[in-house]
Amino acid sequence: MTTFKRNVYERAVYQEPAPIRDNENPFEAMVERFDVAAKILGLDPGLYEYLVTPSRIHITAIPVVMDDGRLRVFEGYRVIHNEILGPSKGGIRYAPDVHLEEVKALAAWMTWKCALVNVPFGGAKGGVICNPKEMSPGELERLTRRYTANMIDVFGPDKDIPAPDMNTNEQIMAWILDTYSMHSRRTENAVVTGKPIILGGSRGRREATGRGVMTVTLAAMERLGMRPGDSTVAVQGFGNVGSIAAQLLRDQGCRIVAISDVTGGYHNAGGIDIDAAIAYAAAHGNTLEGFPGAEPITNDELITCACDVLVPAAKEDQVTRHNAPNIQAKIIAEGANGPTTPRADDILNERGIMVIPDILANAGGVTVSYFEWVQDRQGYFWTTERVNSRLDRMMRTAFDQVFDVAQKHDVSLRIAAYVDSIRKVADALRLRGIYA
Ligand code: GLU
Repeated sequence: MTTFKRNVYERAVYQEPAPIRDNENPFEAMVERFDVAAKILGLDPGLYEYLVTPSRIHITAIPVVMDDGRLRVFEGYRVIHNEILGPSKGGIRYAPDVHLEEVKALAAWMTWKCALVNVPFGGAKGGVICNPKEMSPGELERLTRRYTANMIDVFGPDKDIPAPDMNTNEQIMAWILDTYSMHSRRTENAVVTGKPIILGGSRGRREATGRGVMTVTLAAMERLGMRPGDSTVAVQGFGNVGSIAAQLLRDQGCRIVAISDVTGGYHNAGGIDIDAAIAYAAAHGNTLEGFPGAEPITNDELITCACDVLVPAAKEDQVTRHNAPNIQAKIIAEGANGPTTPRADDILNERGIMVIPDILANAGGVTVSYFEWVQDRQGYFWTTERVNSRLDRMMRTAFDQVFDVAQKHDVSLRIAAYVDSIRKVADALRLRGIYA
């Protein structure tokens, strides 16, 4: 990342060396895949430019009085990539290294993700440069409320609907709901998804992304003639996505041989007790540090460890040209957004490793967000069974669709996923036409 704009406090505090990245700009990584798909589709250059360009970028200063009385100003973003298929949808992440180019890429990925799973939303993403791990609940609440107030004309149940992402959770969604509702003088629970069930959240939403990862992984295993009972899995990242995916794949009979979080990797060839790891993290400030049920390994060792399925569920740029040649997995299911760089894609393709791309593999989250929004608008709430069976069906359909497109054009699942979703959004744009 070149021009990395951070507020004064963050610049003073966070000066970690930049990791080695294959592609320094995630938006360019998105465009690189888009280009290949656009060529296959024979996309008109005008449409190309329209679809690749974010429609609106909001940048806002968020003043927060900290617990010690100091005033700090944080920088926040909301990028609306486009609203062609419906109101824009996408999470908000809080992290010290949030970058506008990253938020632009994540917003575009939401557009393709929604189109891919046939959810009638456009794409958006938000981000605030902050370190939530060093902030008190009160500071986080004030930051969230002021960010929401600054975005009051952007958000709305029919306009733009936020959700959780990295370091944001149900509580933060509840504060967004409340702040938005105070401004509109009525309770608007459909303005945000991923909120607590008591406030109009959906059953199954918290598990949805991990569940979707499990569904498409099983579908991929079927295609490759692999049996869950004979398969081993390594999961990078032990947040909402990684921990649930590990748990559900374990329930399907897989042996989870490695997990990791920011404190490093944990390996046990005999199988890690995932419930014990979840309980351990919950009791130790949400980290696995010191987890006794496994041997410590590095995150890079986890990526290349002996396993049949690798689930990168942490963050961008984890599978790179440096470690891709040594990956032993037959399937990579991308729980995170953008974990594989374009150069690594080339290597994995050549090596015949099946990558279930992020916009397909982690689309379970936004699918159940869509269910949540529908339930809020109807004021009628579904059972867990109904949520899960509809989610499973939609994920399965999307996987089969992408698989067919990949075979038809003889391309990777990633390029097929882009082809399929860009085609849908381009068709919708042609039908809507350009308002002059
Ligand atoms: N942040 C999640 C994602 O990247 C969920 C977005 C949503 O539910 O709107 O897909």
